Amino acid sequence: MQFPFSVSPLWRRLSSPIACHFADSDVDLVVIGAGYQGLSTALHAKRAGLSVQVIEAGDIGAGASGLNGGQVIPGLKQDPETLLASFGHTAGRRLLDFAAGTADAVFDLISHEGLDVERSRCGWIQAAHTDAAMEAAVRRNRQWRAYGADVTLLNKAETTLLTGAEGYRGAFLDRRAGVINPLALAHEMARIATEAGVGLVLKDPADALVRDGSRWRVQTAGGRSIRSRKVLVATNAYSSGLVPKLAESLVWLHSFQIATEPLPPDYDFILSGGQAVSDSRRIVVYYRRSPDGRLVLGGRGPMAVPQTHEDWRHLERALHRLFPQLAEVAIERRWFGRVAMTTDHLPHLHEPEPGLLIAAGCQGRGIGLMVSLGQALADYVASGDAAVLPLPIRPIKPIPLHRFRRLGVAAHIAWYRVLDGLER
Ligand SMILES: Cc1cc2nc3c(=O)[nH]c(=O)nc-3n(C[C@H](O)[C@H](O)[C@H](O)COP(=O)(O)OP(=O)(O)OC[C@H]3O[C@@H](n4cnc5c(N)ncnc54)[C@H](O)[C@@H]3O)c2cc1C
Repeated sequence: MQFPFSVSPLWRRLSSPIACHFADSDVDLVVIGAGYQGLSTALHAKRAGLSVQVIEAGDIGAGASGLNGGQVIPGLKQDPETLLASFGHTAGRRLLDFAAGTADAVFDLISHEGLDVERSRCGWIQAAHTDAAMEAAVRRNRQWRAYGADVTLLNKAETTLLTGAEGYRGAFLDRRAGVINPLALAHEMARIATEAGVGLVLKDPADALVRDGSRWRVQTAGGRSIRSRKVLVATNAYSSGLVPKLAESLVWLHSFQIATEPLPPDYDFILSGGQAVSDSRRIVVYYRRSPDGRLVLGGRGPMAVPQTHEDWRHLERALHRLFPQLAEVAIERRWFGRVAMTTDHLPHLHEPEPGLLIAAGCQGRGIGLMVSLGQALADYVASGDAAVLPLPIRPIKPIPLHRFRRLGVAAHIAWYRVLDGLER
């Protein structure tokens, strides 16, 4: 899509020379989508001895994996006790162990494989803007500490000191978390996957999936046709009509981001400890410093594709509310991407037909989740044993009145903004 104004992710960089090629026309696994999910699954499946072909509609990380906020946060949206209550002791504990390890999976991958990805691991602050949010932080902290996680609470003064922002009641600090350069991670995962022998085709969308005896045939817009024992549809928030009802089982939202110009040393009080922050508002605002000293801030945006810089103005207002000192600082980058939400706020695994796998729905917390899930999906493809998966495989359930869902979401967002405003 062409925009009449500049929209450019902070970390857009020249494509590294990754050897893209077509492995074979008959493979064990075709992966559709070259984000973290697709690339992680492809890498691990290849290392398990399978032949793998990745098909990507755009460039590496063209979806959320190249556009995200870079905050690597372990856990799911639900707290540990909620997961145990929902899934029962055994399955709940397995899911909890998986979720607790997702940030480790990213940082271990980067260090063990020697990936060229800027990163720091100073933790994530979930800053409470009301007393009720602080009570939730206390509960979250108690539950994760009981699990043995390296988390703590911050009081008001500590939160002000670490964030540089006034007005928070306190915070939950998760020291397992950190930040990465998201696009670099996608590129480096593609590099090691292709070096391991994964075939990677870019700029050629898969446009049909058909049964071919006991195998699948994946056809692309560019005229390729690949037979495969198994297929993983790793298109997540960018899913369209390839698998019936999949897109209707998700609600995708736009997350928008802005980046300031690099800040001079006068502003070193902002995020002085190097943590990333999300606040506790209904319409969450998240922020971090980039390695070159910018403040990068994001949050929900309009459901429509942005037309002018005005569509990012709500983020500039949030920036100035948090840091009035930045009122005169230039905003140099603006961009946005899609986040896939599910009605139960959990990622969904599907296998609508034997050998056709799907994982989707990260609720905006998919870096660690999808890097980790890729390993489990590869194990499942290799072994056929669903017990290796952290979540049950469920039927695809379209959301009733999905066509009107986006209107409903837009109305909700507007209402939540009003409520957040009243709590200020
Ligand atoms: C603005 C933004 C900020 C975010 N911030 C964070 C954060 O700070 N921390 C965090 O943990 N998570 C964050 N997320 C979420 C996280 O980025 C995603 O959950 C994660 O990247 C999903 O990875 P994925 O591989 O499943 O999907 P994606 O990276 O979206 O990959 C899907 C791929 O499928 C391709 N595709 C679609 N259709 C076809 C087709 N027919 N044929 C071939 N290819 C196709 C797309 O081009 C795309 O490359 C954010 C997301 C956004 C958009």
